[in-house]
Amino acid sequence: MGRGIMGVAKQRRYCPEDDRMVLAEKQTPNHLLHLLLSVLTLGVWLVVWIILIIGADLGAYRCPHCGARTRSSPPWGWKPRRRRRDEYEEEDED
Ligand SMILES: [Zn+2]
Repeated sequence: MGRGIMGVAKQRRYCPEDDRMVLAEKQTPNHLLHLLLSVLTLGVWLVVWIILIIGADLGAYRCPHCGARTRSSPPWGWKPRRRRRDEYEEEDED
C-alpha cells in the first residue's frame, strides 16, 4: 500500500510512441490519507486535497517506458505486434 500523499492509478492503454499497449500510469491523490489530514487540520488540508484532485484529473496516463501520453484505445485497425517477452515485462502475469 502506498503511504505517500499521491498514489498511482494504472490502466491498460495504447502508447503511440511504442506502438503497443502498455500499463499506463497516472498520479492520483491518496484519498484516505487526505481525509485523515483534513480532519486533523480542521479542514485546512481540504485546499491541498482539492488542488491535487484537479491536478490529477488534468494529468494524463503516461507510458511507463517512454513517458509519452497514452491513448485510451489504439487507432482503428491496429493490431498488436507479435508478443515478445522482453517487451511485455510490465504485464502482471504471475
Ligand atoms: Zn511508450
